[in-house]
Amino acid sequence: MVDIWGNNNLLGLQKQKSKRGTLYSFDKDKILQRQKGLCAGKDCKKEHNGKRVPINIRSNFDHVKPLALGGKDILSNLQALCPNCHQFKTREDRKMISLRKKKSSSNNINLHSPVNLDVFKSL
Ligand SMILES: [Zn+2]
Repeated sequence: MVDIWGNNNLLGLQKQKSKRGTLYSFDKDKILQRQKGLCAGKDCKKEHNGKRVPINIRSNFDHVKPLALGGKDILSNLQALCPNCHQFKTREDRKMISLRKKKSSSNNINLHSPVNLDVFKSL
């Protein structure tokens, strides 16, 4: 999914503040520590000459399992990604979300994420 904490404007999308999903720098620290300051992208190493990209508090924080797919807004479902991996992951997430939307038009898609609401507008 897309960073909802306002550090990223990669996709040129308007940033919006969310009431929920506020990630404090304290929480970001925890995530960075957990990842030893390196990007969590699964292909990061491969994409960057065998080295994961270092990340920091201003990096992209991402839901491992998108909220729209039932992911939780909790630390264990968050990861920090370098811009490359984040872009890639966002693309993958969108695919999953649109697949899921095709499968069921039920109302269990979480509208929490403030970004890219176009995907959900038809619901
Ligand atoms: Zn990466």
